[in-house]
Amino acid sequence: NSKKDKGSTVAKIKVVVRKRPLNKKELAKNEEDIVTTESHSNCLAVHETKLKVDLTEYLEKHEFVFDAVLNEEVSNDEVYHETVEPIVPIIFQRTKATCFAYGQTGSGKTFTMKPLPLKASRDILRLMHHTYRGQGFQLHFSFFEIYGGKLFDLLNDRKKLCMREDGSKQVCIVGLQEYRVSDVETIKELIDRGNSTRSTGTTGANEESSRSHAILQLCVKRSVDGSELKPAKVVGKLSFIDLAGSERGADTTDNDKQTRMEGAEINKSLLALKECIRALDNDQGHIPFRGSKLTEVLRDSFVGNSRTVMVSCISPNAGSCEHTLNTLRYADRVK
Ligand code: ADP
Ligand code: MG
Repeated sequence: NSKKDKGSTVAKIKVVVRKRPLNKKELAKNEEDIVTTESHSNCLAVHETKLKVDLTEYLEKHEFVFDAVLNEEVSNDEVYHETVEPIVPIIFQRTKATCFAYGQTGSGKTFTMKPLPLKASRDILRLMHHTYRGQGFQLHFSFFEIYGGKLFDLLNDRKKLCMREDGSKQVCIVGLQEYRVSDVETIKELIDRGNSTRSTGTTGANEESSRSHAILQLCVKRSVDGSELKPAKVVGKLSFIDLAGSERGADTTDNDKQTRMEGAEINKSLLALKECIRALDNDQGHIPFRGSKLTEVLRDSFVGNSRTVMVSCISPNAGSCEHTLNTLRYADRVK
């Protein structure tokens, strides 16, 4: 059910599902792949093993339909083609767009998100240097994360940041390092730097990245009269969000207080996100972005002319069945 604007052929909200292959560990345990897809189809089915009262097993089939279903054979190039590529040109036409990766830890969110900003930058720079050559466009890059409801700059020693709104309701993250970039090599370095800052975090635990939302933003600006002296104005923005592991939102009964608090924050932000995306459908409607830090930060991407792509990542193994169904139900509510 792609919702389209009059002015553009790019759907306002697009929901795709990406299934990763079984990994070595799952194969070694002889785990079954319980997610079936058909080629050239946007349907998918999950085959859940259930027990009858007499303890005999039976299969329950759960069927879903999305804007696109990308199976384990689909490459990252194809993911880009299906998700972000169509949005890039409209960033030059006052559009703000967001691409989210949602799913349980280990389902492929980072694997999916990591290459997208670089591919998008390449296309943005190509447009800037050719189609829009000499028109004063600039590309700016920033990368931060939300952890426990607080903002940290991933390109500036995890400096703590705060957010405010300016008079024209533009979201401003005070102190966030923004890099003006004009070549892909620099962008690649920034992406790698941010990602490594993220996964090691402050304690060096890899675990930590599953509890934070990583937000990478490519902002297209334009100097009004072509002058380099005056500050350039924001034209459009493309945000890439590697969300916290969706299962972390359920950490609300954990013994550790810190974990419980973080779980509650993640739960709140994922619920608020769903509500905000749903509200995008009826343009005039109230957008409940005040529900969480994540949605507050994305406020300017939820109002006006905006586009949202959600990539729901799922693990195929039987042991992940419950999380997979939760992810698909969440995605189903968004579409
Ligand atoms: P998440 O960020 O959701 O926790 P990751 O992106 O780190 O998950 O993926 C978990 C593991 O699975 C990684 O080792 C990653 O390389 C691998 N993986 C994920 N998706 C795919 C895929 N589509 N094809 C091959 N390997 C994948
Ligand atoms: Mg990850």
